[in-house]
This record gives sequence, C-alpha cells and structure tokens, in this order.
Amino acid sequence: MKVCPDCHKVVSALDAVVLKGKTYHKSCRICYKCGQVIEDNLLLPKQVYQGHSYHYSCLNSAQVCCICGKKTLHYVRDYWGNTACAEHGHICLYCGSFVREGQTFLFSCVREGQKLSEPRWICDKCQVSIVRTPEEIEQCRKEVMTIFKANGITGIPEDIPIRLSDMKDLPGFQGKVIWGLNKGRVSSSRARYSFEILMHQNFPRVVFKGVLAHELLHSWIALYSIRLPNNEEEGLCNLGEFLVLKQEKSKEADYLINWTLEQNRDPVYGDGYRLMKKRLEKLGWKGLMDALLWENKTPEHIDL
Ligand SMILES: [Zn+2]
Ligand SMILES: [Zn+2]
Ligand SMILES: [Zn+2]
Ligand SMILES: [Zn+2]
Ligand SMILES: [Zn+2]
Repeated sequence: MKVCPDCHKVVSALDAVVLKGKTYHKSCRICYKCGQVIEDNLLLPKQVYQGHSYHYSCLNSAQVCCICGKKTLHYVRDYWGNTACAEHGHICLYCGSFVREGQTFLFSCVREGQKLSEPRWICDKCQVSIVRTPEEIEQCRKEVMTIFKANGITGIPEDIPIRLSDMKDLPGFQGKVIWGLNKGRVSSSRARYSFEILMHQNFPRVVFKGVLAHELLHSWIALYSIRLPNNEEEGLCNLGEFLVLKQEKSKEADYLINWTLEQNRDPVYGDGYRLMKKRLEKLGWKGLMDALLWENKTPEHIDL
C-alpha cells in the first residue's frame, strides 16, 4: 500500500505517478493546465488552485476573467486582448468584444436545403445602435452615397427600396449566413429597373452602412449589365464596404475591416476583395469603374 507524500492518502496502481522513487496521485502531480508531471522544485513549488495541481509557472499565467472577476486558466481572449473564462467568453458578432450584459439573436441560414437559425451574441453597445426605423435607414443611405460620390462612384440609383428582414423568407443559400441581398431586374435599355435591397434586421449602424455599400454596388453592376466572375463582383462590392468602413475611423470599423475583409479566407469574398483592391490601388475608384464599364461594353453601350 503506497501513500501519496502530497496528500497522505492511499494511491492505487492505476492512479500512480512515480517521481524519484516516490508514488503520487496523478491529480497531485500532473499539472491541470499543461498535463506534464510536476517535479519537486523548491524555487517554483507545486501550486494548488481550486483543488487542482499546477506547475508554478502554469498557474501564474492564469488570467482574471473580465466578466466574473475570477482567476482562470481556461480562458479565451477577445479581439481586443481581454480575457474571460471559457464559459463567459461570448464574443459579439459585430465588434469582437466580450458580451457583458448582452443578448443573443438568431441568425438564419440555409444548410443542405434546411433552414437553420444559429444563435449569435451581440453586445450592449452594438445593440443600441441597431438600425430599425425608415429614418435611420435613409440616414445610412445618405452617408454611404455621400462617401461614394466624394470618391467618384456615380450611377447608382438613389431610390432603391431598402427593407429589413430576418432573412427567414429567403431561398436556399447553402450554409451561408446572409447579411444583405440585392434583388432586381433591369430592362434591356436600362430605362426601367426594379431593385430591392434586403438588409439583416440586426445590424448596428456601422455594419449596416458597410453592408449597404456592398449591396448598392451590386445594383450598379446589375444596372450596367457588367458581367464579372463571382469573385470579382463580390470583391468589388467588398471594396465599397471597405471604403465606407474606413471613413468611420473607429475601433469597431477597424475590427470589421480586419475580420470581414482583410482576414477573410473565402476564395470569393476574401480573395476577390484582395484581387480588386490591387486594381483599385492602380486605377482609383473612378478609373476602376470606368474600366469595368469599358471592358463590359455591349453593343448597346457603344451606341451611347
Ligand atoms: Zn496525492
Ligand atoms: Zn503545467
Ligand atoms: Zn468568468
Ligand atoms: Zn458589439
Ligand atoms: Zn455580395
């Protein structure tokens, strides 16, 4: 019968760790954080915290949870470097911060033909700026169009209806969470068009403006019958989002630029964005849009 020198209780063979001829419990000598054996070390002795054993160095890398204030080794970090316990670390979809008093909402998407609603977290700060009323929608449109015009982006109709949606009534978009959608028809002479932009009903102001810029550029592409490969079309629309977010000059906008654009690994939305950004850097907005019109000229364009 062996007795563990640490806790003075009997050790069974299955639960034993042998160190320098002495037999310990695994829980007494296996570090709860890193899973390695904790050797005797006078300078950095074994540490016990909340009933678990740790290396001195492992425990002292514990972090204080910014939500509950307790020290934790099983922590997660938000985009801004704050730490929280794994169970408190709910990250706001829109700003990348931990959600304190926040709420969840359901984001709808379609996967393998089935409609799914996935819960997402949204923080208080983002919650209060959600765009809800027609006046708020028009204010966002005005701000986006002003930025567009100042950058030489013209030819986008100013009267496209914008409707908020919970995105539940949409047809199948396999596994994609839909942020915004542009529906439309254009007559061959472009004299008549009918567009409608659907926006997710849970967008804070900054996100709303970014997504709206994206959708308005889809309208421009449709109106001028510009035929682009999918990655170039989404890339161009994402450039519009970038332009609008950059003007915000806020932490939240920087986060969105980084997360939805710069770090986006999607071959269409991310690679397309980087591809079009290279063209934009060479040509500027006016030059890029003129080039797209020219490259896609149809006989009807030549008549003009
Ligand atoms: Zn023990
Ligand atoms: Zn350890
Ligand atoms: Zn916590
Ligand atoms: Zn937030
Ligand atoms: Zn798009």
